[in-house]
Amino acid sequence: MNKPYRIVMLGKQGAGKGTQCSKLAATLGIAHISTGDMLRSAAREGTEFGKLAQGYMERGDLVPDEVILGAVRDRLYRSDCREDGFVLDGFPRTLAQAEALEEILTPEGVKLVINLDVSTEVVLRRLSSRRVCTGCGRTYSIDFPPAVDWTCDDCGGTVVQRADDTPEAISRRLAIYEELTAPLIAWYEAKGRFVTVSGEGDFDAISDEILATVTRF
Ligand code: ADP
Ligand code: ZN
Repeated sequence: MNKPYRIVMLGKQGAGKGTQCSKLAATLGIAHISTGDMLRSAAREGTEFGKLAQGYMERGDLVPDEVILGAVRDRLYRSDCREDGFVLDGFPRTLAQAEALEEILTPEGVKLVINLDVSTEVVLRRLSSRRVCTGCGRTYSIDFPPAVDWTCDDCGGTVVQRADDTPEAISRRLAIYEELTAPLIAWYEAKGRFVTVSGEGDFDAISDEILATVTRF
C-alpha cells in the first residue's frame, strides 16, 4: 500500500486495537485516530462535546452519531490524514457510521480493513483486569502493573480502572458490539480489502502480521 494509508481496525473491546494501532501508526508515520481517546480527552477537558459524550461512555453505550461524526470528519480532513493517511481505531461501529465514512472518504474510500480477532472469553479476562493511565492513556493490567504504586511509568499519571470496565458496562459493550458492530465484518468482506488477523498470542508477532498485511496491499 502507498501513502496515503487509509486503514480501519475492527475488533471487539479488549482485542488490543489501541496498542496495535498506536504501534502501526508510529511505524508507518501516520495518524492513530481513536474515537474512544478523543471522547475521553474531551470529557476530561470538560468541552461541550465531552459533556455530551460522558454519560453514554460511562454506561457503555454508543455515543450518538450526531455527536461523533462531525469530530471524525474534521479530523480526517486535516492535512496529515489526507497526505500520509491514518488508522482508525473504534470507528466505524455501526453500519450508519461505515456509510458515513465512505462518504467522508469519497471517492477513494477505505483501502484496508483489518479485523483483529479475539475470542469473547479472552476479551472478558483482559477487560476486567485492565487498568489505564489517566494522563497518557497507556494500558496496564493487574498482572502487569506500573513499577511504582499505580503511577504511570511514562508520565507519572494515576493508573485506574476505566469507568466502563465494570462488569455491567463490559457486558453491555460486548452486547452492543455483537448487535451493531459485528455486522460490519460481512459488510466490509463483501467489498474486498478485508483481512482477519488473530489478536491472540504474542504482541510483537501480532504487530508483525499486521504490518505484513498492510505491506502486501
Ligand atoms: P471500547 O472499544 O473498549 O469500548 P473505546 O475507547 O474504543 O473502548 O470507546 C469507549 C467508549 O467511547 C465507547 O463505549 C462509546 O461510548 C464511545 N465511542 C467510541 N467510539 C465510538 C463510536 N465510533 N461511536 C459511538 N461511540 C463511540
Ligand atoms: Zn501515563
